[in-house]
Amino acid sequence: MSDSTNLNIIFIMRTNHTMTRKRISQKAAGDIASARISKLFALARGAVMNGNDERARRYVHIARRIGQKTNTPIPSGEGYCKGCGLPMVPGVNCRVRVTGGRIRRTCGSCGEVRRMPYTREQRE
Ligand SMILES: [Zn+2]
Repeated sequence: MSDSTNLNIIFIMRTNHTMTRKRISQKAAGDIASARISKLFALARGAVMNGNDERARRYVHIARRIGQKTNTPIPSGEGYCKGCGLPMVPGVNCRVRVTGGRIRRTCGSCGEVRRMPYTREQRE
């Protein structure tokens, strides 16, 4: 009689233990991650505006790490310099030029140049 109640107590404790280690689904993790990445990039842009480059780099670093850990891509609108890790804010710390069907973005901090083509349909 007393043996069975003991077993019951152990069983309840075990289930409670596994309940505390509950995992969320990958989709839910991705949703939280992309929300946090956007928020961190907004903070990073604000830091660039205030001239606080080190803080901006740190925000971008955290955002990228969240992306890596949760396998979430960085939203295409959120640009950062691949050379020095600063968020690119056009008119503040990066130069944007359009030449020969390409967009050229130059980092104002380290001089890294990134070129990307824009829509081919415009040429036709
Ligand atoms: Zn740079």
